[in-house]
Amino acid sequence: MHQHEVPSYLSDDLGPWEIYLEQVDRVTPYLGKLSYWVETLKRPKRILIVDVPIQLDDGSIAHFEGYRVQHNSSRGPGKGGVRYHQDVTLSEVMALSAWMTVKNAAVNLPYGGAKGGIRVDPRKLSRGELEKLTRRYTSEINFIIGPDKDIPAPDVNTNELTMAWMMDTYSMNQGRTATGVVTGKPIALGGSLGRRDATGRGVFVTAREAANRIGLPIEGARVIVQGFGNVGNASARIFHDHGAKIVAIQDVSGTIFNGDGINPHDLLEFIKENPDVTAYPKASTIPAKDFWSIETEFLVPAALEKQITMDNVAQIKARVVVEGANGPTTPAADDALRERGIIVVPDVLANAGGVTVSYFEWVQDFSSFFWTEDEINKRLEKIMVEAFKGIWDVAQDKNVTMRTATFIVACTRVLEARALRGLYP
Ligand code: NAD
Repeated sequence: MHQHEVPSYLSDDLGPWEIYLEQVDRVTPYLGKLSYWVETLKRPKRILIVDVPIQLDDGSIAHFEGYRVQHNSSRGPGKGGVRYHQDVTLSEVMALSAWMTVKNAAVNLPYGGAKGGIRVDPRKLSRGELEKLTRRYTSEINFIIGPDKDIPAPDVNTNELTMAWMMDTYSMNQGRTATGVVTGKPIALGGSLGRRDATGRGVFVTAREAANRIGLPIEGARVIVQGFGNVGNASARIFHDHGAKIVAIQDVSGTIFNGDGINPHDLLEFIKENPDVTAYPKASTIPAKDFWSIETEFLVPAALEKQITMDNVAQIKARVVVEGANGPTTPAADDALRERGIIVVPDVLANAGGVTVSYFEWVQDFSSFFWTEDEINKRLEKIMVEAFKGIWDVAQDKNVTMRTATFIVACTRVLEARALRGLYP
């Protein structure tokens, strides 16, 4: 599709929440009688905006704006990560919370959807300041979270340590140790084996399932990955371990390329000492914009929203786009990919591996009985393969994209629960 053919309502200017609303509109014709309830998907159940004041190391006081949005609880407690980023907005957190509702239902986890965030550039804070920020934020949202209410997890710029602080703060406020209040915790605090790589593992499994259906072998396939954080580096390592060749990686520090393949294990070790990927000696640095036109079989966006847009979609050579990130493709670019026959495994399916193992972590915390990594990976594989199959079949049957098919499956589950519960009072 050429730029001038894009309807104005599908412009790249849509914010994340508007993109989500557009996705709901697209699925509504497929919901039958359940479309009676569709408006409930367009309104978050609860939005909490909090001021997070902390004393900085220099003695001054800084204020940050934090959010926790619980989009839907029809199928269970809220679940979704917490993001620290200088560009976090309420609209973004609302969209991310809604995508959690869809994602959790798509893989049939007994959760609603939620998400949190703080508008902050965490690179500018010391470790002590980050701990204060996390603890104050957790205290401010304390009354709406809990193991049976809403369970946060890591997202961009938050990690196991952030979750340890959140768990401890919530527990101190409750007067008891409540490990199940967050997932993605360190193993020593009730975390789960396999959680760290779970999102990347799910990205790989769904990519492999898509590839199987179009006769594309993983062995020798080229992969380019945007983002080398939790999701990007795990995806790259697992693709690599299955014989694929990681030819380019882009992160916030730059873009690197090696046509013979980059060893992501080696790169991960390297960036522990030197966070600038462009300093990696076994690949060359290329301009960021050239990333999109690299010859490749798989493209894995695993950084932020709105990366695949009408500006770069025409250059994309991949046969399969596997969305590790949430919301990386604008609706207009999504249509353009479809017209070009490029398969998109959508975020709400492709990156559901993380929340799936978060669910396992939560179950293990409740039962205080921990599983082996092998058990976890097998269960994750089973859930992702089954979800993929169901969604692929709906896409074929109804001749829709995998994104719309995922929304059909997920929104049907959410609205069935909504209809059965009825409208209180
Ligand atoms: P992270 O903070 O660990 O890593 C983010 C990566 O993106 C970093 O490598 C960073 O350098 C890169 N990045 C940031 N801005 C960039 C830019 N402008 N251009 C190129 N690269 C850029 O975050 P993460 O947890 O890996 O999350 C990445 C994405 O995956 C997000 O969209 C997140 O919502 C989604 N996601 C994460 C999980 C999870 O389990 N962590 C689960 C599902 C989805």
